[in-house]
Amino acid sequence: MFIYRRKFIFISALTALMIVGFMATSLTSYFVAQESLSRNVSEQMLPLTSDNIYSEIQRDLLRPILISSVMATDTFVRDWALEGEEDSTRIISYLNEIQQQYGTITAFYVSEATRQYYHPSGVLKTVSEQDPTDAWYFRVRGLQQDYEVNVDTDTADRSRVSIFINYRVLDYNGQYIGATGVGLSVAAVTRLIDIYQQRYDRSIYFIDRQGKVTLTGSDDQRLNQIQDEIGFSDVAAQILGSPMATLEYESNDQTVFLNSRLVPEFDWYLIVEQVGSGDGERLDNTLLLNLLLSAAIMALVLTIAHFTLRSYQRKLEDMATKDRLTGVANRHLFEMIFEHLTRNMQRYPRPVSIISVDIDYFKKVNDNFGHQAGDLVLQEVCQLIIKHIRDSDTICRWGGEEFVLLLDYCQIDEAVLRAREIQAAIQNLAVSFGKSRIKVTLSMGIADYRPGEALDVLMARADKALYKAKKAGRNCIECADAS
Ligand code: GH3
Ligand code: MG
Ligand code: MG
Repeated sequence: MFIYRRKFIFISALTALMIVGFMATSLTSYFVAQESLSRNVSEQMLPLTSDNIYSEIQRDLLRPILISSVMATDTFVRDWALEGEEDSTRIISYLNEIQQQYGTITAFYVSEATRQYYHPSGVLKTVSEQDPTDAWYFRVRGLQQDYEVNVDTDTADRSRVSIFINYRVLDYNGQYIGATGVGLSVAAVTRLIDIYQQRYDRSIYFIDRQGKVTLTGSDDQRLNQIQDEIGFSDVAAQILGSPMATLEYESNDQTVFLNSRLVPEFDWYLIVEQVGSGDGERLDNTLLLNLLLSAAIMALVLTIAHFTLRSYQRKLEDMATKDRLTGVANRHLFEMIFEHLTRNMQRYPRPVSIISVDIDYFKKVNDNFGHQAGDLVLQEVCQLIIKHIRDSDTICRWGGEEFVLLLDYCQIDEAVLRAREIQAAIQNLAVSFGKSRIKVTLSMGIADYRPGEALDVLMARADKALYKAKKAGRNCIECADAS
């Protein structure tokens, strides 16, 4: 019992140790890897993507700024305006030329003197401070910088949203005389963003300094104002608070990595976002594999421990209960079996007998052939007796050259028959030791178990019968008195 509990404690402790050890190493390496992946995304991958997009956007979007700047400083434009805007066909064909030459969707000139809006198709309108669609012009008029980039509906085609470069035109003394520039199709820029998004597998968009989303890819669901996005107000403040930011936020239980940079030419922020650290799935798989491997190792270690312990346990049990020389039950085990049997007999009453067996003149065997020969005789006598009892019977080495047989479901008469069988078999036994052939005889005393009888009482009766058998000249079988 003690051994079993110790084994249980040992196996439990081993299991707990291994679980803690394996979990600790697996999870630590998982989190370290995840941490370094996250750092890699926010410190290297996103800024790199942002750099690439920035340079490509510059290539594609800076050209119209350049064209507009050339228009604003063109001496023809300025001279024509200063000379009273005579012959509008000249400026119209100039704007046409620009539109054709550079493939823009529009080109325009608005005069401060006449408020006329010149367009490649003619004079479109007169801008007015009362007309909200002309608000852009009055904003540009008061602008500190040379130009602005604005996403707006086209005055020439109200159904079309365009990106306008609105450049201030100054006379030779630096006085404001009008606004000029070109317009690009938003669709073209959206396509451009779509291409980048696909190439980098990241979400890309632009916002202005107020947080208004100015440009996105074609299937972007983003709201107009980033501050309005759920859980985004902190992030928005961080983006708008510095020209460059790298941050993380949680959205739908996922970590989103964000990189923002101010593009000074547009006065817009370029935002690049990535959901998750990319290789998360591979990391999860590695963790799972690690844990499975740990579980397999654990199962192996526990199996080995179990079988090793069981084998030691059995050896210990054998050592504690079996006789070393003959392998039969020792007195301790015999007592336990007897106790178990008598308890069982209270429920299932039946006859039980015991035979006390003693080898005759065994001392002489030792004296004549040596101790080793004596040992061999003890072993062979034991084996022979085992052959003549049933599996349900028990043979015990009581001590020295004395054995006790416990015969279940056995009347005393049957026990006598069994004893005679053994006696006859022993007569035919000659133990070979070297050249010698050793013969022995047995004396046996038989007693039947009386309900409620203690083992020592029963044994005393059997020993008394054995003593009688010895007295009778040995090689004899005697039964205990009936009284
Ligand atoms: P009896 O017929 O009266 O039983 O005579 P005996 O010689 O058999 O009885 P006794 O009790 O005088 O001697 C028993 C001997 O058994 C003495 C002891 O040395 C020997 N013996 C006891 N245990 C062992 C053992 O494990 N191996 C060997 N070889 N001899 C043993
Ligand atoms: Mg003897
Ligand atoms: Mg003896």
